[in-house]
Amino acid sequence: MLNKEKMALDVWAIALERLRATVNEVLYEQWITALPPVRLEDDNCLILGVADDLIGGFIGDSYGRHITEALRDINGVDYIYKFESGHQPKAVEIAPESVAEVPETVPAARTVERNSIGSVSGSYTFENFVVGEENRYAYAAACRAAEKPGLFNPLYIYGNTGTGKTHLLQAIAHETQKRYPNMVVRYATCEEILNCYVESLNSHQYGTFRSLLRDADMLLVDDIHVLGGKGHLQEQFFNAFNALYHENKQIILTSDKRPSEIAGLEARLISRFESGVTTEIYAPGLEIRIAILKGMQQDFMMHFDDSVLEFIATRISSNVRRLRGALMQLLTRVSFDKDVTVTVEWVDSILHAVFEEEFTSQHITVDEIQKKVAEYFNLRVSDLLSSKRPKSIAEPRMVAMYLARKLTSASFPKIGHAFERNHATIMNAWSKVPELCEKDEELRRAVAVLERQIRS
Ligand code: ADP
Ligand code: MG
Repeated sequence: MLNKEKMALDVWAIALERLRATVNEVLYEQWITALPPVRLEDDNCLILGVADDLIGGFIGDSYGRHITEALRDINGVDYIYKFESGHQPKAVEIAPESVAEVPETVPAARTVERNSIGSVSGSYTFENFVVGEENRYAYAAACRAAEKPGLFNPLYIYGNTGTGKTHLLQAIAHETQKRYPNMVVRYATCEEILNCYVESLNSHQYGTFRSLLRDADMLLVDDIHVLGGKGHLQEQFFNAFNALYHENKQIILTSDKRPSEIAGLEARLISRFESGVTTEIYAPGLEIRIAILKGMQQDFMMHFDDSVLEFIATRISSNVRRLRGALMQLLTRVSFDKDVTVTVEWVDSILHAVFEEEFTSQHITVDEIQKKVAEYFNLRVSDLLSSKRPKSIAEPRMVAMYLARKLTSASFPKIGHAFERNHATIMNAWSKVPELCEKDEELRRAVAVLERQIRS
């Protein structure tokens, strides 16, 4: 047994050297070096320790490919790895404070100062957030942040509009305040922070602004992409971020983009934002959309036929806010006209404008994307659909797959069909293109230009 532990150590030491070259430095220190090699099983399976399934899932999703690659051909053996829950992460060198214990009992005699910038809506809680495959991961990370502030730091949740980011963020604020009543939990939109900053400059009350950001035990900032292009505010935010981070104060951010995709965001902020857990939240699938509508009608003590709810949920798939807006419109109509029989046809006529809006926002097609991408790279669409492997074709093909997922509401399998591939290939392109863009400035620009062209 001891021997197996020693072998695990040796194998991991070699893999670590390789990983150092392939994973971003900050993330390498934060996630990879923290994994303890536990033992070797079946001669070639390295067991790596993680605290729990969520962290294992996160590391596997983010770095699994790198780890597999690094474990190849070590003294002639291709090793594989598995995570085992229940292990403490090894101390992280980059910020020793970040592994400090979160106090179970909260510090006494602290002013409870809730939400002094933004306000938290009472209706956004974990209990009324419907969980499905598309938001499961973001939801789990959010729950964990409220249970054990400081564990995932920073937590960065991003996704399209109307996917539930604000809801989750405010649910964290609620839950944390409930669990740790003496903790100073501060929620604000980035816009509110910006206004506050401008006001403080005008009134020469800069100290007030500074303490708004820093005198918090948990800082939740909604729509952080608003920081893009605002140099002065970025400077302030950078300093506040560091101060909070080093005191192991939980920072949670939401955005409509990955940090590296926010135009005009300084590189040092990008690397800070990416140094914790970054998780994407997707628009929920049909079943979840129906469940959301059911929950909402219950709140209003109404009951529509399942066929009606299903009809609305099928028609509106991109944005939960629009979905809720549609049901709200229906509820209002019905409360004015109690005698009406609510049929699918009637609903169709009432919500016609909303459906139209949904349709126009969804007008980009996978075909169109294939054409534009092929044109941009001087290829033919048939090249993109072919199995040719040279980089000059394979990369544009991945870009087209990536943009198809990003700019349309088509599912992975549906896009796969359009590219004559399976859904796993599309998922791979979806995670790989941002990685490639990080290393290749030219590709990054190409993706950005194409995205703009296609959107317009
Ligand atoms: P975002 O901040 O991502 O634009 P919001 O959090 O504002 O989206 O969500 C828009 C609306 O949809 C809110 O009313 C929110 O409560 C609701 N919503 C979104 N996702 C869910 C979900 N999974 N369960 C319940 N309600 C949801
Ligand atoms: Mg929002």
